[in-house]
Amino acid sequence: MSAWERLPDEFLQSIGAQELIDLRSDWNHIQLEMLAYGVVPGNTGNLVTPRSVISYPISRGNVSMVSNSTTVKPIVQPNWLESPIDQQVAIYTFKQVRQIMSSPIMSSIVINEAYPGPNVTSDADILAAIQATGHPIYQASGTCAMKARADGGVVDENLVVYGTENLRVADASIFPIIPSANMMAPAYMVGEKAADLIKADQ
Ligand SMILES: Cc1cc2nc3c(=O)[nH]c(=O)nc-3n(C[C@H](O)[C@H](O)[C@H](O)COP(=O)(O)OP(=O)(O)OC[C@H]3O[C@@H](n4cnc5c(N)ncnc54)[C@H](O)[C@@H]3O)c2cc1C
Repeated sequence: MSAWERLPDEFLQSIGAQELIDLRSDWNHIQLEMLAYGVVPGNTGNLVTPRSVISYPISRGNVSMVSNSTTVKPIVQPNWLESPIDQQVAIYTFKQVRQIMSSPIMSSIVINEAYPGPNVTSDADILAAIQATGHPIYQASGTCAMKARADGGVVDENLVVYGTENLRVADASIFPIIPSANMMAPAYMVGEKAADLIKADQ
C-alpha cells in the first residue's frame, strides 16, 4: 500500500529547500508505504512497518570505474542522506509517520512502537535511528545521466554515449534527476523514446 505526499512549503522554507519547493506542483516529495511485516533485525512478532521514502533526494552519489575490464564491477557510492536537507526531510516524515501510528484511529490496533522506540525523541537520535536502518526501495537510477559531458553526463539528448557514434543507453540510468516516482513507468518511457530515435536514424 502506497501514498504520495508533497511536503508543505512552510516546512521546506524552514530548512532552505528551495529546490523542493520549485519542483513541478504535481511532483511529490515523499512516498508513504505500509508493509505487513517488520524489517528491523531482531524485531520479531506481529509487526507492521510504516515507512516513508524520500522520492526526490538532494544527496548525489557517484560511480567510479576501477578497471578497463567489463568483468570488474564499478564502485557505486550512493551517499544516502548526505544532504542536510534530506536529513531534515527524513526526520520530519519520521515524525509524521509516528503521529499517524499513534492517532486515535490506529490506537485500537497498534500496541507499541517496536523500533526505534518511544524514548527516541530528539532529532539527533531520530536521525541516528534512520541512518542505522534506512535502506533503498530498489529504484536505482541516474548512473549514466543525460546531461552535459562537462557536468558528468554520460549520454547526450539522443541517448548516445559521449565519445561513441552508435552506442545508446536506454534504461533508468539515464535520468539526470529522479522523476519523483517509482521507476518502471519512466523506464518504459525511455524505451519507447529510444525505439523512436533508433528508427529515425535508419
Ligand atoms: C525488488 C524490486 C522491486 C521494485 N518494485 C517496483 C515497483 O513496484 N514499481 C516500479 O515502478 N518499479 C519498481 N522497481 C524498479 C524497476 O523494476 C526498475 O527501476 C526498472 O526495472 C529499471 O529498468 P531498467 O530497464 O533500467 O533495468 P532492468 O529492468 O534491470 O533491465 C536490465 C536488463 O538488462 C539485463 N542485463 C544486465 N546485464 C546484462 C548484460 N551484460 N548483457 C545482457 N543483458 C544484461 C538484465 O537481465 C535485465 O533484463 C523495483 C525494483 C526492484 C529490484
